[in-house]
Amino acid sequence: MTSAEQVVSQIGSITVAKGTFTCEYCKKSFQRESTLLAHSCEKKRRWLAKDNQDVLVGFASYDLFYRIEMQSKPKQYVDFVEGQYYTAFVKYGSYCLNTKVIDQEQFTRWLIKNKVKLKDWPTDRMYLLFVQSHCKRESVERALERFVENAMTTEYFETFWETASGYLIADWVEMGKISPWIIITSKRAEKAIGAMTSECIERIANCIDAEYWAKKRQLNPHDANFVQEMIDGTT
Ligand SMILES: [Zn+2]
Repeated sequence: MTSAEQVVSQIGSITVAKGTFTCEYCKKSFQRESTLLAHSCEKKRRWLAKDNQDVLVGFASYDLFYRIEMQSKPKQYVDFVEGQYYTAFVKYGSYCLNTKVIDQEQFTRWLIKNKVKLKDWPTDRMYLLFVQSHCKRESVERALERFVENAMTTEYFETFWETASGYLIADWVEMGKISPWIIITSKRAEKAIGAMTSECIERIANCIDAEYWAKKRQLNPHDANFVQEMIDGTT
């Protein structure tokens, strides 16, 4: 055997020895199929999770981020899996689902527009700021619709304002389930606030740009009447 043939035969035996079952995700080889099937690697895990809700929201946000910030073409899932931001975006996706973010795409656009660092995306601090800005821009109809959708999930929809605790109402205002439109206009809401602890009142006050909403109510009396009609049953 020439030395060249020896080298070739050695390489051949090394290849065989490395095993014939290769992980299609990380390219690692195994001698037994059972070992390959039991094998787990980060890439395989990411591909198998591709239809999970948190991953879907994370991927959509990642794609939107690149399209807006980098004028990038639509991203493929493979770019996401191979990229360094996979974990951060999936964490954000999971936050959006757990928090029941009122409008995921608008929240993502708001974070991008305000140049918020990716690590701060899945935080209540950012979400509460987004809610305040979102409530100012949405229609009064949408604000009422969202409140009704949420109130209907409680067991006391009809007597929501008389039954709900101050803490629940403060939570709902912070998370955007109750729009400032209702707080500044409804007589029932006013009465509920009057019966709350100062801690709850303070939390609500911190969420509402009082000057902005007073002006908005003054300039849109029809919308204010509509809120009273829907929430209080009177005008
Ligand atoms: Zn692998």
